[in-house]
Amino acid sequence: MANAELFQGDIALISGANKGIGYEIARGLGAKKIQVLAGARDEARGQAAVEKLKAEGIDACFIRLDVTVPETIERAAAWIEKEFGRLDILVNNAGISYFDPKPSGADLNKVREIYGTNVFGAMELTQAMLPLLRKSRHGRIVNVSSHLGSLTFASQADSPTSQLLLLGYNTSKSALNSMTIQFANELKDTPIKVNAICPGYCATDLNGNSGPRTAAQGAVAAIQYATIGDDGPTGGYFSDEGRVPW
Ligand code: NAP
Repeated sequence: MANAELFQGDIALISGANKGIGYEIARGLGAKKIQVLAGARDEARGQAAVEKLKAEGIDACFIRLDVTVPETIERAAAWIEKEFGRLDILVNNAGISYFDPKPSGADLNKVREIYGTNVFGAMELTQAMLPLLRKSRHGRIVNVSSHLGSLTFASQADSPTSQLLLLGYNTSKSALNSMTIQFANELKDTPIKVNAICPGYCATDLNGNSGPRTAAQGAVAAIQYATIGDDGPTGGYFSDEGRVPW
């Protein structure tokens, strides 16, 4: 169902593209001849990532984007409008986590901070980019979620994710999943497809580089659903192995 030819020459914005899974998503989309707008909150880190992408022949440019700072979102949207007049792919990848001791002991200021990035950041960026995505022939929104956001897994006593009680992170990804359905339902009669994906447990700075998968492996599902064909699903939750239960 992925359709690389359909997207050649298209424009993709990835939040948190300077490292980890976001960088690999940018790299993978760029390899499909998609123009990469690498969103990063820090200019030096963002520019360094863009230089690395360009060294691989990828058409990339840096765009300053802190998803918790509305002015950077507004400026990014205005710049994309001026330069390209549309956006074809939005990947809400930027995310943070903290290790909460237990839900009963979680620091709610940290929980709010996580929601600020993982939920409100993604909501605000999506709202700001929607007018541009509506101008695309085949807009795609991919929300980088997690297996830890699955209520089904969390409520199964024998599931590994039911043992990992991260009040802020896990519930933020459940909210991101719900947001995916909300936007998909609103946009169901348009060409825009909205899906949530799970990268799997990847070694990145988010988790002290502890995961068994690489960031490049973690990027596979996002790349797939960012370039899904017009006959592909919307309002779904997927890993690179297929559907994930909500
Ligand atoms: P990472 O290496 O820590 O990268 C996170 C990225 O998000 C960085 O580029 C970071 O920028 C950026 N970011 C954080 N806050 C931001 C903000 N306010 N505005 C803009 N960018 C911001 O972690 P990762 O593992 O690649 O995570 C990427 C996504 O995958 C996250 O949504 C995460 O929840 C999800 N995920 C990861 C795993 C895993 O096992 N690693 C599993 C499931 C889901 P700075 O460099 O400036 O901090």
